[in-house]
Amino acid sequence: MPEVHNWQLGRGMDYPYEAKFPSEQFVFVFNTNRCIACQTCTMACKSTWTFSKGQEYMWWNNVETKPYGGYPQHWDIKLLEMLDKAHQEAGVRPIWDPSQSDGNNKPYGVYNGLTIFEATLNRDLRDEVALGYLPSDEEWSSPNIHEDTATGLKGSPGDTSWKDGVELPVHQGWFFYMQRLCNHCSYPACLAACPRKAIYKRPGDGIVLIDQARCRGYRKCVQQCPYKKPMFRTTTRVSEKCIACYPRIEGGDPLNDGLPMETRCMSACVGKIRMQGMVRLNEDGSWANDPQNPLYYLVKVAKVALPLYPQFGTQPNGYYIPPRWVPRGYLHQMFGPGVDEALKRYAAPSRELLAVLQLFRSTQTIISKYEIIPGEKVYETTIDGKTWEMYNDTAVGFAKNGREVARLNVEEPFHVRSNKYFNSI
Ligand code: SF4
Ligand code: SF4
Ligand code: SF4
Repeated sequence: MPEVHNWQLGRGMDYPYEAKFPSEQFVFVFNTNRCIACQTCTMACKSTWTFSKGQEYMWWNNVETKPYGGYPQHWDIKLLEMLDKAHQEAGVRPIWDPSQSDGNNKPYGVYNGLTIFEATLNRDLRDEVALGYLPSDEEWSSPNIHEDTATGLKGSPGDTSWKDGVELPVHQGWFFYMQRLCNHCSYPACLAACPRKAIYKRPGDGIVLIDQARCRGYRKCVQQCPYKKPMFRTTTRVSEKCIACYPRIEGGDPLNDGLPMETRCMSACVGKIRMQGMVRLNEDGSWANDPQNPLYYLVKVAKVALPLYPQFGTQPNGYYIPPRWVPRGYLHQMFGPGVDEALKRYAAPSRELLAVLQLFRSTQTIISKYEIIPGEKVYETTIDGKTWEMYNDTAVGFAKNGREVARLNVEEPFHVRSNKYFNSI
């Protein structure tokens, strides 16, 4: 296999095709700390793209409850177990070396384990390009099974009678909501797996699509996408997946004067946990320096948003601010070694980070650039023994054409309703 560079792993890795990168990449950041699992995002996608016959069990966007829930059921645990077995057979210890981290090039250090592409090389899987499995129909049938089910006390499954279990930094009994859609990966396993070459990554925006006319429904993409985001449609006998609402990304929505718009699932988010847009790429696939782009800032400068299971090796373009109350070992497995620093920065945010966090879901237009206007100090407290100050700064967001599309203060405005309207609607 050719070698490509995976910056999330801090090293080169095997991938079936030569590296090729779009000029801009579709990217999103989710703040798991704020999600209320209302599923508005899920229904926004469903009612737009997957409401037809044969799509009844298809949820391109879903929100599942971790650690027990999953769509399809146990998708990540199953693959982690397969990967674990591959490591044991190859005699490789899958460890990260954070001491080799180097700014933006290797932000999380170096991953010394096997990716899903490399894990097939030493095994009886030479015909497969990546480690994977095909979920059963039953596993697809319950999109958020085990909703709101917390872990029990250690050694007593189901026992939630703890006394001090819900204090930070880590809860004894815990669960959290995980929002999922296709990551429009830089090294997509679905694309690599397709024997018909029916899957392609668009050169302008990095969106990964399945050509419905070429697909013959072999389901190799379903089997080998580690995130299980392509889905088979029984009525048409071909696979389908999230299309990143590309007409909106292209500025084709008549509501928005031709400006790129956030996708349906992003712009519908009630909890304001989502921010989506585009990042510019250099020719070698690295992110072009663009610190005033909010996504670049969150991932590369503040480093509070981390990729989901980077060790799988597809270089996913969805990033998550991890949930603060969850045991660190679980989070390290899920988001890699950047978790501790990310949570430290999120728990005591800098002035800039706090201001940028206000921009989440402030407009349907994609924010390409932001500015911060300094405001007065409004609050002071102590976090982890250090003084932390809050300023009422103003975050201003600009669209691709430079037009101002969002303006929010850190301190939320407080409105007192006139007595004239007391108890009326
Ligand atoms: S998440 Fe899966 S379906 Fe989406 S691009 Fe990556 S490998 Fe392909
Ligand atoms: S980006 Fe669009 S197509 Fe993809 S999950 Fe969200 S709403 Fe559905
Ligand atoms: S709409 Fe937002 S808050 Fe509601 S479930 Fe989706 S991601 Fe979570």
